[in-house]
Parts: sequence; structure tokens; C-alpha cells
Amino acid sequence: MPIIKIVQIGILSLFYFGTDSGLHWLFVNVIAYSFVVFRSDQRSIKYWIVCVSTLLFLVCELLDTRGIYLTSIDQNIVIVLVFIAVSFNFAMVIHLVMNRLKSVNRHLRILAEKDELTGLSNRRKVLADAVNIFADSVINRESCVFAIVDLDHFKKINDTFGHEAGDLVLSKVSTLMASVIRPQDKIGRYGGEEFIVILPNTTLSAAERIMENMRQSVEDMLIETEHGIVIPVTISIGLAPIESSVSRYEEILAQADKGLYEAKRSGRNRLSALSNYQN
Ligand code: GH3
Ligand code: MG
Ligand code: MG
Repeated sequence: MPIIKIVQIGILSLFYFGTDSGLHWLFVNVIAYSFVVFRSDQRSIKYWIVCVSTLLFLVCELLDTRGIYLTSIDQNIVIVLVFIAVSFNFAMVIHLVMNRLKSVNRHLRILAEKDELTGLSNRRKVLADAVNIFADSVINRESCVFAIVDLDHFKKINDTFGHEAGDLVLSKVSTLMASVIRPQDKIGRYGGEEFIVILPNTTLSAAERIMENMRQSVEDMLIETEHGIVIPVTISIGLAPIESSVSRYEEILAQADKGLYEAKRSGRNRLSALSNYQN
């Protein structure tokens, strides 16, 4: 497109209307346009077009050739039309730049919120979700449950099957866990082999059913290494409901962590729910 434009503008400016028509100012437009439309791997053609356009613009400015086909009224009309065309092109360029910025922004936000290995929300994102859901639940006086999930004896899995197999387990378990929660629930990687699940507008008994289903699904999972060896995986889960006595979401997480500790202490591969009143 910029090449066609250069040829067209060159013919019009130099040979047809003459430089006094002002048409050669369209070369400035071509330069701006080529900075936007070419990708980084098309750098050489971009610089080539910028050089040719600059050269032709200078030629038009220096060679004051008279327009031979247009009267001065016609040339005024041409100038107005050129002005409209230039404005339109600039609007298009701005629109293109805005769209590119928006898509880069979207991509960056996804990168900033996603855990690379598991594809789940990362710690920052899931904690931001926790803050928002906690505030909503307190304001609307709705029940809500936080859960912390931890893979059992994961260090042993790494030691026995290798770190790569450990990564595979993390990835497969994460996909499964994300598939068994409801659309309104949030899950994210808290760190290492620990995950946070947030169940908004949910009673403790309903949350226990959902998380017990998750625990059972992980236990029933078949994860095979590339050598065909099946890796047994289980998870322990601590749950804590939001209660009226709690004013910060960190307190709910601390409660859920205590529940997790209790689940580990009493044999792993199980759930444990601790409320503030049980302290
Ligand atoms: P427990 O049942 O008490 O939770 O025991 P555990 O072995 O699961 O817990 P521990 O905290 O002793 O070990 C966690 C291990 O998880 C240690 C660390 O090397 C491993 N780990 C953390 N992040 C990753 C990861 O991204 N990939 C792999 N492969 N391993 C990880
Ligand atoms: Mg663990
Ligand atoms: Mg752990």
C-alpha cells in the first residue's frame, strides 16, 4: 500500500499537477504511515520507503515545476481534497496505533496475572481476587469460603520422578482443579505446590462438598511420566468461612492455613475446616 501511494503521489506531484499543487506534502503522510504499518521484521522496506519519500518530497520542494493541467481554482479544490485525504489518513493511523496499544496492553495484563507453568492466576492476581471478593461478601453479608490446597509429599515426587515430572504433576493437577470448581469460583497458584480457591456466596457445607469432589478427583487422576510410570498424587485442603468477627482477608487465609496444617497432621489427602470460634 505505501509503495502504491509513493508511485501515485510521485506521478501526480512531479509530472501531472506540478509541485505548486501542494500534493507532494502527501509524502509526509506516507512517511508517518510507513512507521505504523510495517512490522519490526519489515524494517528494511520501511527505511527504504522513508528515504524514497523524503527524497521525492525534497525534489518536489526544490524543483518548482508548474502545474500544466489545472487552473488556480482547480488547484484550490485539489488542495482541499488533499487536506481531507491527509486528515483521513492521519485518523486511520491514530486508530491503528490505538488498536495496537490496546492489544499490547491486553497481552501484558494477561502475562502479569498468569502463572506460566500452571496457566492459573498467579499469586498477585488471586490475592487481588481475594481482597475484592472478601470486601463484596462483607458488604453484602454473604457467606464465602477461602481454601488453601497443598500437594502431599510433593518433594518426594520431585526426588523420585525428577523435577520435570514434578512440573507435569503441577500442571495436570492445576488443570483438573480449575475444571471442577464453578464458574464464579477463583483459583490461583499461591506459591510452589500451594493454591488458593475462593468460593464466593457459598456456605461452608457447600464448599466442603465442592472441595471434597476436588480432592477425590485428584486422587483418582492418572498422571503418567514419559516412561509410562503412573505418579500417585493427593492433596490436602484447609477451609475457612468468612465470619462477622473477621475484618481482614488475611485472617481468613490464616484460618485456612491452620485448617491445612490440621489436614496434614491428621494424615493428608483430606479436608479440614477451621472457623474462628474453634480457636
Ligand atoms: P507436605 O505433604 O507436607 O506438603 O510435603 P511436601 O513435600 O509437599 O512439602 P515441602 O514444602 O517439603 O516441599 C515442597 C516442594 O515443592 C519443594 C519444592 O522443591 C517443590 N516445588 C515448588 N515449586 C515447584 C515447581 O514449580 N516445580 C517443581 N517441580 N517443584 C516445585
Ligand atoms: Mg506439599
Ligand atoms: Mg507446601
